Amino acid sequence: RATEDAMRARGVRVVRGADVPKIVTTFEEASFPAYVMDDLKERGLATPTPCQCQAWPIALSGRDLIAVAETGSGKTLAYVLPAIVHVNAQPVLEKGEGPIALVLAPTRELASQIELEVAKFAASSEIKHACVTGGVPKGPQIKALKSGGSEICVATPGRLIDFLDGGQTNLRRTSFVVLDEADRMLDMGFEPQIRRIIAQTRCDRQTLLFTATWPVEVREVAREFIRNDPVEMRVGGAG
Ligand code: ADP
Ligand code: MG
Repeated sequence: RATEDAMRARGVRVVRGADVPKIVTTFEEASFPAYVMDDLKERGLATPTPCQCQAWPIALSGRDLIAVAETGSGKTLAYVLPAIVHVNAQPVLEKGEGPIALVLAPTRELASQIELEVAKFAASSEIKHACVTGGVPKGPQIKALKSGGSEICVATPGRLIDFLDGGQTNLRRTSFVVLDEADRMLDMGFEPQIRRIIAQTRCDRQTLLFTATWPVEVREVAREFIRNDPVEMRVGGAG
């Protein structure tokens, strides 16, 4: 009760969804596995952000999530840590299988920042990752995708479509999908690519959408792709 009031005072609220998992206030309460806790300690982070306090229990329970949260609210770790936990709970990749977790982001710069964050938490469980974006040579990206597989792939939609069409990777095993900065991806005209990408992921996937703004275009895409018993949350004045 006190916790919820404190979080509401900090602008976190759930606007849709039944039986929403209880908000957490500490890293311990989120019940991350020990390997994640060790990495968190190493990072020296003291407390989760309000966005993380609400997003983690939802994402870790396997629910779909729509999070409308202002820039700087800590959205990256809100999905990166659940992605790591999800990947570790899946059977290992067989030869020729593409990523288990896929993060789509609008720009190369953002994708590489996200991959850096992934790298910090992937090492301890030996999860492999790849960054697939335009504007850089394809060779090393293909190598990262193929050499023993990459469980987590951070991608911009255009280059990923190139690799899917070219058979350099596939999404047969992809059961955790994140659309980060969904509003910017739509502004940049990526909707057709996103639709084609999502169509190739597993039907039983978990899908999370993060956005700083909540215009009608984003609402429509969210309604189309985030439909497995979703929870919709807001942080701050966003949306
Ligand atoms: P957003 O995607 O919502 O704009 P980011 O995920 O980029 O936000 O995080 C913004 C900044 O806050 C980053 O520098 C990140 O490292 C930092 N950060 C994230 N989570 C925490 C936390 N729990 N405690 C302190 N700093 C954090
Ligand atoms: Mg972000």
